[in-house]
Amino acid sequence: MDTQRIILTAKKALEEAGITEYPIKIVQLCENAGIRVFQEYLPENVSGFIVVKDEDFGNYNYNKVISVNRSEPVTRRRFTIAHELGHYYLHRDKNDNLYAHRDAGQRGKIETEADIFASNLLMPEEMVRTALEYQNYYEGGSIPDTMKIITISKEFNVSREAATIRLKQLKLI
Ligand SMILES: [Zn+2]
Repeated sequence: MDTQRIILTAKKALEEAGITEYPIKIVQLCENAGIRVFQEYLPENVSGFIVVKDEDFGNYNYNKVISVNRSEPVTRRRFTIAHELGHYYLHRDKNDNLYAHRDAGQRGKIETEADIFASNLLMPEEMVRTALEYQNYYEGGSIPDTMKIITISKEFNVSREAATIRLKQLKLI
């Protein structure tokens, strides 16, 4: 799948949920797509998973579920939720069945696509540029890269690592 399509899909998801402000309300976005989010203790190496089925799943009494590991920091949990939502929008099959989980060190094309979706969903380009413009205005002039990373990380409630990747992608650092 080409990156442009992933970016457009993330944009559309935000539009459909009527989200125009940051930090992105990621749980609201999932609810808008009919998915319930559970934050619970999962095995150490599992960040989260998504299940979409015809019938209710396990103890969740619901058929569209994203679960994230409570023991991980909120910034990572937010990214995991966005990543799982990416699988929902990008990788669901015709029968509407889906199962994916996010493990430590997981790689592959599908995982990369879900990460690109998550990055665009949590840090939309226009909003990132706006946040940096405000920062520029208040700081009066050019701001160092480390400051940009901290700003985006705080304003968008994402990890510094995720903010760095996004800023590099947009060639803003
Ligand atoms: Zn995944």
